[in-house]
Amino acid sequence: MTTSNIITSATAITSAQEAFFDKTSMKSRVKVDEKRILNARSDLNQLVPIKYKWAWQSYLDGCANHWMPQEVPMARDIELWRSNELTDDERLVIKRNLGFFSTAESLVANNLVLAIYKQVTNPECRQYLLRQSFEEAIHTHCFQYIVESLGLDEGEVFGMYREVISIHNKDAFELKLTQDIMDPNFSTATPEGVQKFLDNMIGFYLIMEGIFFYSGFVMMLSFLRRNKMVGIGEQYQYILRDETKHMNFGVDLINQIKIENPHVWTKDFQDKTIQTIREAAHLEIKYAQDCLPNGIMGLNHEMFEDYVGYISDRRLERVGLPKIFNTENPFPWMNEVMDLKKEKNFFETRVTEYQTGGTLNWD
Ligand code: MN
Ligand code: FE
Repeated sequence: MTTSNIITSATAITSAQEAFFDKTSMKSRVKVDEKRILNARSDLNQLVPIKYKWAWQSYLDGCANHWMPQEVPMARDIELWRSNELTDDERLVIKRNLGFFSTAESLVANNLVLAIYKQVTNPECRQYLLRQSFEEAIHTHCFQYIVESLGLDEGEVFGMYREVISIHNKDAFELKLTQDIMDPNFSTATPEGVQKFLDNMIGFYLIMEGIFFYSGFVMMLSFLRRNKMVGIGEQYQYILRDETKHMNFGVDLINQIKIENPHVWTKDFQDKTIQTIREAAHLEIKYAQDCLPNGIMGLNHEMFEDYVGYISDRRLERVGLPKIFNTENPFPWMNEVMDLKKEKNFFETRVTEYQTGGTLNWD
């Protein structure tokens, strides 16, 4: 074959290529008003022009808040863990926290990559889903790093979701939602499909990241307030900052899907969603009871009933549903401990050029 033959065959346009390239018009260029969260017909490979500014902003904020677990020193935690200054109850809280989070982060990551990403037909939302997926990988890494630093039994911690019933029940609740969407026949082409997809969003963004994570955050940050397990406390502050972003993105996504598919947001579906959040709150209260059977450091599981009710109400309101618990926040200090700018900041003493600023908006 001569050189000119190779060039001719390489540049010959097949009929399939003819179909791919639209030479007759500018139809191949995406227009903003053709973009949709679900079932978009526009090209998924063209990020711009951006329609959902909140999605792109979430991506930029996620990048600005980048951190890695191994940048947090663990020496003081290791010293305290090896000493006899922690009670058995304190050790139980710490282990049950690590036991829940260590695998919950993987459940969230798997749901994003295997279930959500395929259905969301919008490139700027997908850009954030990719960023969020990496953050979930960092969070799972964080628990591996803590377990390794403290010399804990890794099988015990990472296996706890199969062995402690209250953790198992929270995870089983979420795993079912992932499976529903992973069915190869699943599609959002029907109203029932969109509702099932919303079930998944509500289950992961509002419930998993918005309710199931929060009593764990309170427990571990209350150690930090008492100057105990400060390395883990700092890691939890960074995770909480990320999770707040994840949940805010999820709320925006849910509300935009509602706008674009108003026919699926029926009274029945709203009632069912309220009921689901009520069930989830009860699972979370059970988990708090399992972590704090006797109460420690001014925390007892009765306080968590109020707290879980309080945060569940806030999640309901974010998607336009009525409050159902009407409890007060028993942990007002959470607002302060969540403000990283007030804390000693490890970035001041480390080489972290990627940290470009704290664009923090706590919910
Ligand atoms: Mn996470
Ligand atoms: Fe998350």
